Amino acid sequence: MGLLEKKVGVVFGVANKRSIAWAIAQAWAREGAHLAFTYQGERLKENVAELAGTFGTDTLLMPCDVTQDDQIQLVFNEIRKRYGKLHLLLHSVAFAPREALEGRFLDTSRDAFRVALDVSTYSLVALARAAAPLMTEGGSILTLTYYGAEKVIPHYNVMGVAKAALEASVRYLAYDLGPQRIRVNAISAGPVNTLAARGISGFLEMLKHYEAKSPLRRNVAPEELGATGLFLASDGAAAITGQVIYVDCGYQIMGM
Ligand code: NAP
Repeated sequence: MGLLEKKVGVVFGVANKRSIAWAIAQAWAREGAHLAFTYQGERLKENVAELAGTFGTDTLLMPCDVTQDDQIQLVFNEIRKRYGKLHLLLHSVAFAPREALEGRFLDTSRDAFRVALDVSTYSLVALARAAAPLMTEGGSILTLTYYGAEKVIPHYNVMGVAKAALEASVRYLAYDLGPQRIRVNAISAGPVNTLAARGISGFLEMLKHYEAKSPLRRNVAPEELGATGLFLASDGAAAITGQVIYVDCGYQIMGM
């Protein structure tokens, strides 16, 4: 029997087969979870439908821009109607305007700051609040963060600030939801070549730097993020909540 047999999950943040969300969704599905997927706009629908379709033609697929409360509510209403409950939620969503991911953090506009924090941080709070009433058998909420939350990574700029707020949100949500046996954790992933990552100026340099400097002398593979995502969703992690787990080939321990 799979580790996630009889569990129902919802995944936010699959854009294409390179998405970290896809690696984690595959690991969850392989262990028996039944998954629903959302996509941001019509532009991505076909891509996500094709990927989600590999789990069967009855896979629930809905649009959801995470800045829109009405769309969030529609997703959870549909999950309630179809399954009546929920166990797993993957939040793998982030965005900042491109101009905010180059040059100086000092020059971040009020609007870019607001958008980055709304899409990348507040969305976790909004999704957790909508999911919690359905997690009547306990649950696991998982988000993705990055080391730029705690140290300066040139060009990561406002995303670093958004991730710092995301990691703090993980702790506050873990405290609020703990009594309902809902765990909230974050994976801090080393750089992975995805659509979102390519928006960061100098991203390919980051990949090279990790390969040269991390203790394991390589970059993380998407399947390894999937494996940690599976662990955090499973009963093996039943006493782990409010944590940021580094899956970065050890880079986080380095001072130089
Ligand atoms: P990705 O494949 O581009 O996924 C990012 C997802 O966020 C996309 O599906 C994107 O949809 C979605 N998104 C953006 N704005 C949204 C909105 N308003 N509503 C709903 N969805 C929205 O890139 P990824 O690298 O896998 O990113 C997933 C997560 O991992 C992010 O939180 C990222 O910060 C984090 N992370 C990535 C790395 C890395 O090196 N790749 C490292 C550490 C952490 P659209 O394409 O339509 O915008």
